[in-house]
Amino acid sequence: MPFPAQGHMNPLLKLAKLLHSKGFFITFIHTALYHRRLLRTSSSSSVSSSASFRFVTIDDGVSEDESTHTLHYVQDCMRRHCPASLRELLVREEDEGVVPPATCIVSDGVMSFTLGVAEELRLPQVLFWTMSACGFMGYLLFEEIIKRDMAPLKDDVTARNDARLDARIDWVPAMKNARLRDMPTFITHPSHPKHQGMLEFMIEECRNASRATAIVLNTFDALELPVLDAISASLAPPVLTVGPLMGLNNNKLIFEEPKVWQEEMGCLKWLEAQQDSSVLYINFGSIAVMTSAQLSELAFGIAGSGCRFLWVVRPDSVDGGLDGLPAGFVEETMGRGLMIMGWCPQEEVLGHRAVGGFMTHSGWNSMLESVIEGVPMACLPSVAEQPTNSRFACGEWAVGLEIGLIGDLKRERVEGVIRELMEGEKGREIRKRALEVKEEAWRAVKPGGSSYVNLDKLVYDVLKAPMTLNG
Ligand code: UDP
Repeated sequence: MPFPAQGHMNPLLKLAKLLHSKGFFITFIHTALYHRRLLRTSSSSSVSSSASFRFVTIDDGVSEDESTHTLHYVQDCMRRHCPASLRELLVREEDEGVVPPATCIVSDGVMSFTLGVAEELRLPQVLFWTMSACGFMGYLLFEEIIKRDMAPLKDDVTARNDARLDARIDWVPAMKNARLRDMPTFITHPSHPKHQGMLEFMIEECRNASRATAIVLNTFDALELPVLDAISASLAPPVLTVGPLMGLNNNKLIFEEPKVWQEEMGCLKWLEAQQDSSVLYINFGSIAVMTSAQLSELAFGIAGSGCRFLWVVRPDSVDGGLDGLPAGFVEETMGRGLMIMGWCPQEEVLGHRAVGGFMTHSGWNSMLESVIEGVPMACLPSVAEQPTNSRFACGEWAVGLEIGLIGDLKRERVEGVIRELMEGEKGREIRKRALEVKEEAWRAVKPGGSSYVNLDKLVYDVLKAPMTLNG
């Protein structure tokens, strides 16, 4: 059961497919909100299922008018409505006997209300926190940060220049290079209108994590071992790394994946005509939004860098649409850039030989997709734990260059980082390191690798699939 957003849906679906390939019958649960979004782009009236992998929708109490939604509103509705809907579904289906009775629940880490249902029905319950280990650690540290009186800071507007944001998280050795400003934005910008209630919510979700039978993370040991050790030391359940899931997930597609956006495939054809590692791919995921002033700064920086680029802009990601593009941007970049209003097959794009850099909002799925393809990054984080991901990618792992928060965007900085990434000495070092990390990622998912072994532990020790199911 994923949280209803693309960055959660993708990894949960990948894990579900892996569990299916190990012999489990899968019921993949959408909430009504996500189902409505799917139907907006789908011609059929329902989401397709196969005999042993089906999609079911349960009631979530979320209003149909999405313009009024905040993250916390959606979370709160689901927390209040979904447990009863989920319980009713599981009990009814067990009584009817048409599908096999549920033997375990795997849900998103931020959907911990499922724990109560699992406990009542005496089922093992795995929480899959879809973020990086460093991001998860950031959330786990919220209570301690508050206890130490480092945050929350009162005023968001002045907060960015507040020297207190430079305080180090030095009491956790694995986080010692991170500053308060690198922690998830729910604690550094708590009064942002979109963050209302999220600080308290995440603290509660972190407390609930201890009730799970196991915690699963989409990362790999070689990348985040010190932080993973710190997480294991602070949580009772075993923490199993099974990432990058896209590396483990080599089983054939068994159904058409439900998608909220139609993919524009034309960009792959354009990439075909470009030279190896020559293109900067720019995409800010499924949630990040920017103002037209920020779009304009970004466009000036991209145009000024002179680089070849593929820029995919989600239609609802800029207030005011593309009107904010500077006059002459299209003419100036004609022939060396492709800008697409829409959604692209990102994993294929990142795997394309022509892509030599990725300007990302530092969402965890995007970063992992970049890591497994060895593509170096320019990081422009926006919300949630993205600043933490950016800090680790550009510091500890040395696979990216930091542009800074989207909210602080300056064209000179954008231009400078792009040049450095695509042509500079630092860029060359980072590219080399990205290829080493790519090797480490693939080692983790090959037989005997840490994530490969952990997946088996999850399947046979935690979720207790009979060994014979493995074929
Ligand atoms: N994605 C995609 N096409 C796009 C943009 C994004 O397929 O044009 C996918 C991307 O591959 C990733 C997910 O959407 O799997 C975005 O997740 P991420 O954690 O990076 O960011 P979020 O959207 O949650 O902020």
